Amino acid sequence: MIPRHPENRGPRREYIEISPDEKLKLLNEHGIGVTWGSLDDEKWCLHCEKKFSGSSARIYRENGELWVECGTPDCDGSPIDFANYPWWDPNHPLTQEHDQAMGEFPDDEGYKTKKKKKRR
Ligand SMILES: [Zn+2]
Repeated sequence: MIPRHPENRGPRREYIEISPDEKLKLLNEHGIGVTWGSLDDEKWCLHCEKKFSGSSARIYRENGELWVECGTPDCDGSPIDFANYPWWDPNHPLTQEHDQAMGEFPDDEGYKTKKKKKRR
C-alpha cells in the first residue's frame, strides 16, 4: 500500500529512464496522428497548451506497463493530448498554415465536388 496524502494532487507516478530508442518507439506507439521522427521533434500538448520535445517527455510505469507523459513540468498530459500543431488556437501561425494546407487536400476537394453534384 502506498500512503496517499490529501494534499497530493493526482496519482503519484514513479518516473523511469528508458533508452532513447525505446522512448521514441513508445511515443510513436501511444501517439494518435502524431509521428515522432526523433526525440528532438517538438509537439504540442492540449493539456498545458505548450510545446515540448520528445526527450523532455516523461516515462512512468503503471500496472506493469510503460506510459508517456507530457514534457512540461507539472503537466500530466498523455499522448491523446499530443498534437503536431496547436489546433486549439486558431490564431497560431502553425494552425493557420495547417488550415490552408487542409484546403488543398485532393480528398477535401473531392468531397466538396461530390456534394455539389448531389445537389444539382
Ligand atoms: Zn502538457
